[in-house]
Amino acid sequence: MHSGDDETLKIHCLPVVEDELVISIDEGHAITCPFCGSVVVTIADGCVLPPCEHTQFIFINGEGFEYAEAGLEAWLKEQEERADEDEECCGFDVWDALQTYVEPDGLILERIDHGMACGPIKLTIWVGISETVPTLNPIG
Ligand SMILES: [Zn+2]
Repeated sequence: MHSGDDETLKIHCLPVVEDELVISIDEGHAITCPFCGSVVVTIADGCVLPPCEHTQFIFINGEGFEYAEAGLEAWLKEQEERADEDEECCGFDVWDALQTYVEPDGLILERIDHGMACGPIKLTIWVGISETVPTLNPIG
């Protein structure tokens, strides 16, 4: 089956997003909402749940959500399915998708923690924050 609908193909491939979208938080600092000042993730990796209303998601280590606002996981699943169906597409990447999700007025706070378990471990925390209190991103 071949789809000649270019408009549809554009939606399938997520756009590349500028790096300024991501703000690094130093290890040893709490992650706080830049809009209301609420602590979202404490220094000791404790997520404050539920987070403030600006928080869209707390994603840990590329593995899973500690928190995801209503509709986000369904939206991601839909993006992934579209990418899978689209052979022109470069493949699905959760990180890329999350960056797209927080646009246009959101940002991602990133903190990389280092610790010891059975060996050195690295924990990456991504917090998606949007200035506007979210409505679901429309699809199509
Ligand atoms: Zn807030």
